[in-house]
Amino acid sequence: MKLLIFLALIYFGFRMLKSGLQRTGHIKNNARKKAGYGGVAGEIDDVMVQDPFCKVYFPKRDAYHLKYGGTDLYFCSEECKNKFVESKK
Ligand SMILES: [Zn+2]
Repeated sequence: MKLLIFLALIYFGFRMLKSGLQRTGHIKNNARKKAGYGGVAGEIDDVMVQDPFCKVYFPKRDAYHLKYGGTDLYFCSEECKNKFVESKK
């Protein structure tokens, strides 16, 4: 019986955490990463690409594109793109 209450608390805690994440718009990229593990329907049509600088996977539609040496590269942020270019100099 104690275990049941414990599980219920975890369940509601998790639900509150999830809805909290959805409300905070400024951590959009972090929420997306978490959604990727949970497998949220509606996001599965996204093409996932890897940031060659920080090695993070993210949806291609959010990418910062760079054509480098005839290859298309996709970055999670402008910052990563700039750092990558800097590191190649
Ligand atoms: Zn990055």
